[in-house]
Amino acid sequence: MAILEILKYPHPILKKKCEEVGRIDEEVKKLIRDMTETMYQANGIGLAACQVGVPKRVVVVDVSPLDPEKEFFAIVNPEIISEEGEIEHEEGCLSVPEFSEKVKRKEKILLRGLSPGGKSIEVPCEGILAIALQHEIDHINGVLILDRISRLKRELYRNKLKKEKKKEEKD
Ligand SMILES: [Zn+2]
Repeated sequence: MAILEILKYPHPILKKKCEEVGRIDEEVKKLIRDMTETMYQANGIGLAACQVGVPKRVVVVDVSPLDPEKEFFAIVNPEIISEEGEIEHEEGCLSVPEFSEKVKRKEKILLRGLSPGGKSIEVPCEGILAIALQHEIDHINGVLILDRISRLKRELYRNKLKKEKKKEEKD
């Protein structure tokens, strides 16, 4: 296994709509293992393949630090097939450091996709698990939490990054 580099905003891969996985081969399985290790090492509760530079529809999640009843799982080509209710939660993102903001999501979703073993799975999700998966599915569609907040807050974050960059250049 390997720890992969997590790409940060505004890296262009984070804006890409990722490709479906045709066949879960050894390469995809290795990607899932490496993504899992990378997520745990970064203390994240979810990670999408594009965040480690691979524009494929692969996601790993483990929300057990926030909801101990839930377990780790990986899903390939995830699709939301039904959704209901609304929930708002303060979200952060490993690709958007030092930022968190309330984002509106669906409270419950039904997810369909493939397990790492290639089996078709349906996963009912609610609460923090539903939030994390909607966040990761946004990633594989090229959408970041910065795209889900007001323009003003987005501008503030961009300005903060610019200032930090200038400071780094001076130092
Ligand atoms: Zn994220």
